[in-house]
Amino acid sequence: MMAEASERLDVDIAVLGAGPEDPALRLASRSVIGDHLDRDTMLAFAAEVDVVTFDHELVDVDLVAELERSGHAVRPGSTALAVAVDKRAQYEAFLTTEIPMPRSIVAQGSEELRAAIDAIGLPLVIKHARGGYDGRGVTMIEDPADIQPSRLVELLGDLDVTFVVQDAVAIDSEIAVQVVRSVSGEVAAYPVVRTVQEQGICRMVQIPAAIDEQLAEQATASAMRLAEHLDVVGILAVEFFVSGGQLLVNEIAARPHNSGHITIESSATSQFENHLRAVAGFPLGSTDLVVNAASMVNVIGIDLTERAGDPPSIEVPADAAVHLYGKSHRPGRKLGHVTAVGDSLDDVTRRARRAAEALELQGATR
Ligand code: ADP
Repeated sequence: MMAEASERLDVDIAVLGAGPEDPALRLASRSVIGDHLDRDTMLAFAAEVDVVTFDHELVDVDLVAELERSGHAVRPGSTALAVAVDKRAQYEAFLTTEIPMPRSIVAQGSEELRAAIDAIGLPLVIKHARGGYDGRGVTMIEDPADIQPSRLVELLGDLDVTFVVQDAVAIDSEIAVQVVRSVSGEVAAYPVVRTVQEQGICRMVQIPAAIDEQLAEQATASAMRLAEHLDVVGILAVEFFVSGGQLLVNEIAARPHNSGHITIESSATSQFENHLRAVAGFPLGSTDLVVNAASMVNVIGIDLTERAGDPPSIEVPADAAVHLYGKSHRPGRKLGHVTAVGDSLDDVTRRARRAAEALELQGATR
């Protein structure tokens, strides 16, 4: 989607993809296949481009710091990435910037984990500090049987890693906000969106977020503060819980994020274009809404063997924008998304859901 956005800018995209099937390679003007965790591969790739940026978090922060020391522009840089890839570092950043979060304790290894579990009490959430996404790496624990030592190993795997143990809060709703920050420190915010999760995966994003104006302002101000604190260049997405009328920060991503895909249709400049503008050192584009209501529904792989009857034959729906990523089908995998825009939230949500569900039943192939 960044490569698509580059067509509106005078920017050439080179993609370093993990394998020939990597969907981003199809849209790049230059493509390299290689391992982004391999030092020589990254040094050679960085030497061929003006600016390096990332569209995921599985980043070697030490290697990024080495690229920076060798004079390569990496945006966002290692300071922001070090925090984005590590929930422990996020927890520390929220403390420093005084952004309220669920009560949390960092634990390293089984003894500290036990102490943290005892201190927080059930229900609680145990998060792997590193490596989780789409709900993987997040374990909700309500049943006392699940905190027995052997059960913890079953649930969490190796305990000799870093966890953040959190109070499981009662969630009224979840929201997210994207801000974009330029090389010169200019910051612009997108309107707050509402996110709807199912089984730990984001299912839907809606505009308007339909939350209290004061909470929306607080979320936006917090995201801007974090972007400055972390010296972000590009998009910073910040996710929050609304719990008992309070705003509690959940996590951040320093890249174009699923909660901002809706901006392709909803906003004057998409998050992808603004990320490129920011990292390329261009002026930022307007983050203004261009619609009254928008709903984005992720197209998620389903178990096709359980599909009853023939899949519904829908052509590309005329009333929703379809974005399929060209990824291979796997149950639970995000294969694309659909966005509908209009004047009524009910109407756009119905249209986007219908299109996404039909695509899922068809196996979400192009
Ligand atoms: P990921 O890194 O996989 O996106 P998150 O930290 O966003 O993981 O957690 C995934 C989902 O789990 C959240 O969207 C929320 O629904 C639930 N969750 C996470 N932390 C808490 C918490 N402290 N209390 C209650 N629910 C939580």
